[in-house]
Amino acid sequence: MNLTVIDHPLSRHYLTVLRDETTEPEEFRAATRRLAYTLIMQATERLSLDRLDIRTPLEKTAGYRVPDVVAIAVLRAGLGLLDAVVDLIPSVKVGFAGVQRDEETAEPIEYYFKPPDLSDSHVLILEPMLATGGSLSWACGKAKESDARDITALCVVAAPEGVKRMYDDHPDVRIVAAALDRELNDRFYIVPGLGDMGDRLFGTV
Ligand code: URA
Repeated sequence: MNLTVIDHPLSRHYLTVLRDETTEPEEFRAATRRLAYTLIMQATERLSLDRLDIRTPLEKTAGYRVPDVVAIAVLRAGLGLLDAVVDLIPSVKVGFAGVQRDEETAEPIEYYFKPPDLSDSHVLILEPMLATGGSLSWACGKAKESDARDITALCVVAAPEGVKRMYDDHPDVRIVAAALDRELNDRFYIVPGLGDMGDRLFGTV
């Protein structure tokens, strides 16, 4: 299984803030951004760096530079993770994947996909809620059609159903999540979950 669940005190703390139904959008956005730093650190743990020679004030030494990274934010909720990615990897190129789910079937209805050049880049797909896995699987498929070869998905909460779907459809895609929750309910929400991530981020409840 290509799933890593982060077990870090800060990620547990910020996930608790997100789960709490009394958290207002302003604090919810801040906690999402802070939690995203822990996801990014884990997702980039094995990033192979470009080598370069530099001089310290004392002598020549070897240095390292982050290679080409592309982030694809799955709209809307993926936008909540984007600021932290841009902050930690300022050279990142950013694409967007527009998909909404059919409330009856939970299948993705796609309306937009605009990636930068993905060949030879490490691709981070920002999809905070891995529920049925339909949206993430679709976004990974589109990224692969655009020549993405090395994909890591950043999720806040994953459901077993979504993890299985990803394993069936894209076993090569690594998934980093802050929690693996119990199940989906009959409306395809993750439980215990945190509700509708997009609504909570943008105050549209
Ligand atoms: N999307 C959300 O925002 N929340 C869920 O629980 C499932 C999908």
